[in-house]
Amino acid sequence: MRRNKLVAGNWKMQGRQAGNTALVGSLLAHAAEWSGVEMWVAPPLPYLQQVGALLSGSTVSLLAQNVSHEDDGACTGEVSAGMLADCGCMAVIVGHSERRSRYGETDAQVAEKFVRAQAVGLVPVLCVGETLAERDAGQTEGVVLRQLEAVLQRAGVKSFANAVLAYEPVWAIGTGHSATPAQAQAVHVVLREHVAVVDPVTAAALRVLYGGSVKASNAAELFAMPDIDGALVGGASLDANEFAAIARAARAAQ
Ligand code: PEP
Repeated sequence: MRRNKLVAGNWKMQGRQAGNTALVGSLLAHAAEWSGVEMWVAPPLPYLQQVGALLSGSTVSLLAQNVSHEDDGACTGEVSAGMLADCGCMAVIVGHSERRSRYGETDAQVAEKFVRAQAVGLVPVLCVGETLAERDAGQTEGVVLRQLEAVLQRAGVKSFANAVLAYEPVWAIGTGHSATPAQAQAVHVVLREHVAVVDPVTAAALRVLYGGSVKASNAAELFAMPDIDGALVGGASLDANEFAAIARAARAAQ
């Protein structure tokens, strides 16, 4: 089955209003280069509305980096799924490894975030991935399937018809050392086949992104893999030329 490529940029905790305006302006100057590829960017929460306005009328959609696992209420410092939708987001990252490791998010909380996002029409981008120690111990498959299974159990397989999966090996994020295309492809197949056992139709349509030091220089070889349906890009999404080049590679691989 043909799956439309998706390239999503995660700005993490970086940016200021003036820089955001410049970055989006430079990126949109390349818009003609990625036709047919879905493009999403995730600015920090305080800038969602600013960046949403800058993207208005463009082919780039607004993605949020995180969402509360709870509904509106007495949760100081949290932001609900309903608020993100109200601010113009169309999707949200859940379970990024930085949230899991630095802020102690559990598989159960990630599953709850996934459900809350879908309940208001947001597309969850569920991140899974192993640490280097886990890979070295031969636990890659067990770890990513445990993370995926927590959401499958909570939300059901049909929910993946309106979701995106992102394989992000922790050892490749922000390190400059991407997984090889073969390493990434192997895990993507494990993930897709796990879903396919229960629902082959949903599995065939499910987009599985790769994330971890994707750059203009390695995007084409990653996108050439049959089960890599795009990328979740951190550092390189802060450089408009680099991010646009990744989008061009996605377009070439469509
Ligand atoms: C990420 O934060 O999801 C990521 C993949 O970062 P980087 O591209 O910088 O490795």
